[in-house]
Amino acid sequence: MECVFCRIVAGELPSDILYQDKQIMAFRDINPLAPIHVLIIPRRHIASLAELSDNETSIIGRMAAVANKLARQEGIAEKGYRLVVSSGREGGQVVPHLHMHLLGGRRLSDRLC
Ligand code: 5GP
Ligand code: ZN
Repeated sequence: MECVFCRIVAGELPSDILYQDKQIMAFRDINPLAPIHVLIIPRRHIASLAELSDNETSIIGRMAAVANKLARQEGIAEKGYRLVVSSGREGGQVVPHLHMHLLGGRRLSDRLC
């Protein structure tokens, strides 16, 4: 298994897990860009948002709901946070397993990119 996030799902690589259910896992980013930086992923390997088929789009809603729950848990829901999903090389995606970044805990840049 080469995918780093699949290895985290399988428990082959350690991670700071904040949430998991049958479909979704959330853990802290190893290289945080903000005081709170969590990655929310589907357990199943889906390479990117562009690879998500029309009949599995509900996973994105579930991931957003987990992000919202974790934002409350981490105490940033009221002040605000940002969710980011990068897709493909020009989108800045480095790990080819669909993931959502939850970023917060400081004033984020007004510029999106
Ligand atoms: P991308 O640039 O693909 O949207 O984001 C990939 C993210 O995964 C990066 O923020 C990077 O720090 C994080 N990451 C890469 N490898 C690991 C790892 O082994 N463990 C954890 N927790 N995060 C990782
Ligand atoms: Zn994977």
